[in-house]
Amino acid sequence: MLKKRKIIKRNINNYKKIVSAEEIKRIKKLAKLLKGKKIIHINATPDGGGVAEILESQPSLERSLGIDSNWYFIKEDRFFFSITKKIHNGLQGLKISLTEKEKKYYLNVNKKIAEQLNRLKPDLVIIHDPQPLAISAFYDGAPMILRIHLDLSTPNQQILKFLNPYIKFYQKVIFSLPEYVIKNFDASKAVISYPTIDPLTKKNKIIKPKKLKNILKRLNINPSKPIIAQVSRFGIWKNPVGAAKAFYIAKKEIPDLQLVLLGVMEAQDDPSAPKIYQKVKKYAKGDTDVILISDLKKIGLKNEVLVNALQNCANPILQLSLREGFGLTVTEGMWHSKVVIGGNVGGIKFQIKDEKNGFLVDNTDEAAKRIVEILKNPKLAKKIGEKAHLSVKKNFLITKLIKDHLKIYNQIIK
Ligand code: UDP
Repeated sequence: MLKKRKIIKRNINNYKKIVSAEEIKRIKKLAKLLKGKKIIHINATPDGGGVAEILESQPSLERSLGIDSNWYFIKEDRFFFSITKKIHNGLQGLKISLTEKEKKYYLNVNKKIAEQLNRLKPDLVIIHDPQPLAISAFYDGAPMILRIHLDLSTPNQQILKFLNPYIKFYQKVIFSLPEYVIKNFDASKAVISYPTIDPLTKKNKIIKPKKLKNILKRLNINPSKPIIAQVSRFGIWKNPVGAAKAFYIAKKEIPDLQLVLLGVMEAQDDPSAPKIYQKVKKYAKGDTDVILISDLKKIGLKNEVLVNALQNCANPILQLSLREGFGLTVTEGMWHSKVVIGGNVGGIKFQIKDEKNGFLVDNTDEAAKRIVEILKNPKLAKKIGEKAHLSVKKNFLITKLIKDHLKIYNQIIK
């Protein structure tokens, strides 16, 4: 079933000082004809992961432009999310197949959601990612847009074949990068819009040194020793074990190095996370220089406070993903003027220009080499970090995504 997600109030005018007053004027002009329209965004989960991160800001900023924008997420059982995780992994290229029972269950849930959506009477529906994708077959109200945040460059053909009939019902499909547009896809329907971060959320702000020190103390991290971190769900594509391997190679040269892996397990759509967490834990064998954080309750700090603290204190920041739709954690690290060492894949490859505003690596040995290089050369770290910040400012802030979406809404709602 669909559940309404609370929207935190944000004001588009506050972004003038970051992206200029002219840009905000342009955005407001695009929103003029959309005032009062009821838009419904639907995704899988209220918290955790990049999609929820974008939705924390997007509907709220749309509301501040006079649009009646709303956010709903799916509340279902573990079986549903185990199926959609398979679909997610399949779309990113994993060899999996769905049983007839799983397909039927997935479609039934989507049908139920569509019935609920009919009663909400929107003017436009935006579906985020594959979990609610098949709603399109059972809903015949307002026009629908699909936004896929995944790396679709080498999809499992069986899964794609299963979803294709439902994708066809959408007026527009938004892909994160040009190389993710599905092969032979109707060009008049495909739109590219990069994911972005909101520079005004707590997560992306600069933290005061004293506050940071206190938080690190609570986490048993020593602020006077070098810290590297990967802030990412414990998921197969995120490669936390690879991050730990790179850490141990680098530690041979930098003995007091600490590694923090933060992956708060809130996203109900990722049932495999606890297993991967245990795998990393086993690998680190109780080493106190490896700090694993997954349980907010145990720590008593909010997720955004933790992410903010780690992205403020660690340098370099790792994101050694094996597949990555976009990688907002990379964007966040770069916005904090940090050197991000990222896996040479998907959206990471798109954001990092190797040796200019960060580093791209193909394996843990290369990652370790870059970790050591950056820790031994603070001047280089500063230079790369400054370039990283500018690149995010220019290309990957939420105002850009709002502008992209408004343009599409205008094309669809006449
Ligand atoms: N994130 C978080 N807490 C965590 C780990 C990640 O809030 O413990 C956030 C992170 O800051 C980023 C998002 O989750 O905003 C992850 O987005 P990304 O695009 O990197 O990956 P996804 O999880 O969507 O595959």
